[in-house]
Amino acid sequence: MQRLLHRNALVTGAASGIGLGIAIRFAREGANVALNYIGDRTKAEAALAQVRQVQAPEAQSLIVQADVSNEERVEAMFAAAIGNLGTLDILVNNAGIQKAGDSHDTPAEDFDRVVSVNLRGTYLCSRAAIRHFVSRDKGGVVLNNSSVHEIIPKPKYLSYSVSKGAVENLTKTLALEYAGRGIRVNAVGPGAIVTPINRAWIDDPDKRREVESHIPMGRAGTVEEIAAVFAFLASDDASYITGQTIFACGGLTLYPEFRGTWASGE
Ligand code: NAP
Repeated sequence: MQRLLHRNALVTGAASGIGLGIAIRFAREGANVALNYIGDRTKAEAALAQVRQVQAPEAQSLIVQADVSNEERVEAMFAAAIGNLGTLDILVNNAGIQKAGDSHDTPAEDFDRVVSVNLRGTYLCSRAAIRHFVSRDKGGVVLNNSSVHEIIPKPKYLSYSVSKGAVENLTKTLALEYAGRGIRVNAVGPGAIVTPINRAWIDDPDKRREVESHIPMGRAGTVEEIAAVFAFLASDDASYITGQTIFACGGLTLYPEFRGTWASGE
């Protein structure tokens, strides 16, 4: 399927995990892709090589460095991406971090950093993309990588939970504000996906079994399964969808503890 043929996309946090999966999927669908990375150029170049492998020879892709929470760096990144690709049609706000700790003991700077990357970064990049979309009057697509923790509380990860809850509101508010100008804004809410952010359990069979026992479908998700949802939402197949979060989570948002009938006393 080449649903994104000749579209230009910028994916943040694209050197690993879901972001890299999205960049590869978009490239397979015909898009030109700018892959954002924060610091490790070697890792970013390796990601770029994977993207180029699935692209047609005439398609373009590049890496663009920026900490998405830094306003100046974000502006420079958009100038570089648009300068190289000529225009931008799709932004994926994927970069994200989490920090664990008892909420009453969390240093304020840890809280600020997570919110700064997950929420402020999403805001700064969305603002830059929408400014470009409005200036060329051809519409565009903003997609946010949220989480099931947009709606499910995550004890000991307060800043993460709060940031993803706010991303839901940002998605809806921007969607409403720009719906009349051909700009669609949506989010994907992954459940537990096998990526580096989950290194605490993916390589430990006991911990992984414990995590997967809470998922109604009985397994963690793959990067490819999440990238497929992003590709759908980026494409014209989703032309009438805006302001929504699609949860791709194996049923995690379905209150798994209610699988039995314990609440009715049986
Ligand atoms: P990941 O591999 O750790 O991806 C996060 C990426 O963001 C990394 O490439 C990281 O770069 C980059 N990044 C971090 N801070 C950044 C910054 N300030 N500016 C630019 N890039 C930055 O983990 P992932 O699971 O793919 O996470 C991607 C997104 O999916 C996140 O928003 C996360 O909240 C969301 N998500 C993941 C899951 C899951 O189960 N995996 C579930 C729900 C939602 P470095 O590695 O170089 O620091």
